[in-house]
Formats: sequence, structure tokens, C-alpha cells
Amino acid sequence: MENSYKYLFGPVPSRRMGVSLGISPIPERTCSYSCVYCQLGRTKHMQSERKLFFPVRDIVDEFIHYQKSLQKLDVISIVGEGEPTLYSGLGELIDKIKEISDVPVAVITNSSLLADSAVQNALLNADIVLPSMDAYDEKTFRKINRPHFSVKYEDTQKGLIEFSHKYKGQLWLEIMLLAGMNDDDASLSKFAAILPKIKYDRVYINTPVRPPAESFAEPPSKEQIQKAVEKLSAISIDMLSTGNFFSDVSDHYEAIKNICQRHPMNSFELETFLSSRNVADIETYKKRLEEDPEINCIKYKGITSYRLK
Ligand code: SF4
Repeated sequence: MENSYKYLFGPVPSRRMGVSLGISPIPERTCSYSCVYCQLGRTKHMQSERKLFFPVRDIVDEFIHYQKSLQKLDVISIVGEGEPTLYSGLGELIDKIKEISDVPVAVITNSSLLADSAVQNALLNADIVLPSMDAYDEKTFRKINRPHFSVKYEDTQKGLIEFSHKYKGQLWLEIMLLAGMNDDDASLSKFAAILPKIKYDRVYINTPVRPPAESFAEPPSKEQIQKAVEKLSAISIDMLSTGNFFSDVSDHYEAIKNICQRHPMNSFELETFLSSRNVADIETYKKRLEEDPEINCIKYKGITSYRLK
């Protein structure tokens, strides 16, 4: 694909953070969990051991190259197609990016390795850390996050609490709420009981909006989302508006594939993206995507999403 990066993707619109340039320091679908709601599908490489998958220098060099594009960014998100704290060069990567850029650096993590002091230290210089907390006990943890056998709920929870008190940046918790799994009143009370132990700045409630790994991972009712917002003093991500995708790849079709490689796009996002490039024959692009053997077209709740296989 023309002018495509190996480690960088986007910028993509983030409802929480604005225009976000993604950096993935891990191989595709490498994670310590295999969440039922994962928008990447089931985890391909399940592991809990940290590794230097790629040299820090190579990732930083790509970022230096990207900086020449002068595209305005609100945030640089280290997110990956899996769990970024599995990358053992994470701390060095954050430090090097911060040496050459003033844009805030965010790390999105599933919290699985937060009990590891090396992971805690690696995250200390990030401006924003967004840890997930979808479960309130071992049972919900196994049901929703389906972790690597070595990862225990108690440890992730202790690690999250400990890290939150050490960390001086912005800590934004995220709870993925799923119908019948962690959204009933009793579950919300259990989340509410845990929150005071954590030092955080915001709680976001998320729901599956893109095709999940398992079809039974359904979003809760609007009423339960509202209850969660009130009970946990949280912000519902569904209620935040989304922005536009951007690509510096000039060929429209290659640009779409480039985005889909790292981030599924739904038909509305595709239309907005093509319209922003003054493309008139949007249907032709949809048809081409449907016929492309490299693309998975998934219909979910009446909306088609496009994801690279
Ligand atoms: S932690 Fe994130 S990347 Fe890993 S399986 Fe869950 S949703 Fe997917």
C-alpha cells in the first residue's frame, strides 16, 4: 500500500481524545485477553509475557517521518491491535516521543499487567492512561475478558489501584458494559464499590458499537447505560460525537484499506471519509470493498463494517 506505515495508523477520530495518531508497538492481535466484545475478532497471539517485538528506534523513526506531514494532532495514542503494555520497550518509546513532540501521549491498556512494577514505571511519563475495568470479580473477568491463564483478576485489580496512586497524569477508566454480563443493578453496585479505591479523573462507559468477536456481546439498553452513568458518575462514550478519519495515502481505495487495516470502519464513516475527499461514486467503493478478498464485510445491527482480514 502506498506510503503506509508499519507502526503508525490514522489519524483516526477518537470520541474521547479528538484527532488521534495511533502507534502500535505489537504484532497484530497480540493480547493477554480475548474479550468477547473485541472489535479485532478473537485474539490470535495470546500471551502475558512482555517482549521487545520491534526496535524502539524503528517506531520512533516512523514517527519522525510522520511529523513532517504537519497534520494537526490532539493526541498520540499507543494502542496497538492488542495490548500495548506487552511491548517491553514501552517506557523508552513514550520517553523518546515526548522528547521530540509536544502532543500529549496516551496509552490504552486492558490493565492485565498493571501489577508488574516495570509496566507501572513504563507508564509513569504518559500524559493519559486509559485502563479498562470490565469486571468486578474473577467470574465476570473470565466471562468477559477471557484472559491468559496466568492473569488473575485479583492481581489486575491490585495493580490498577496501586498504579493509580503512583501515577501523576490523567487516568481515565473505561468500563465496557455488556447486556446480561455486567450491566444489571447488582453489577453496577459492585463497580461503584470498587471505584473509591482507585484514584482516577474520569470514568467512561463504553458499549460495543462495532462487530464484536462474539455475537452474544450485546450493548445494554439505553436505560441501563443511563443508570450506569448516574451511579458511577461516568461519561457515556456513545453520547460523545465522533469526528472524521484521515489518511495521507492519496489513492482513495488504498487509503480506506490502510485505515481498515488498523481500525474497522462502518458505512457511515466510509461515506463521511469519501465525501471529505470529494468522491462522488461512494457506492462503487462499497461494492469494491464487498468484493475484495482481503476485506471482511460484517453486517451488525443493520450497519455494515469493513475490516481487513
Ligand atoms: S484487551 Fe482489547 S485488544 Fe485485547 S482482546 Fe480485549 S478488546 Fe481486544
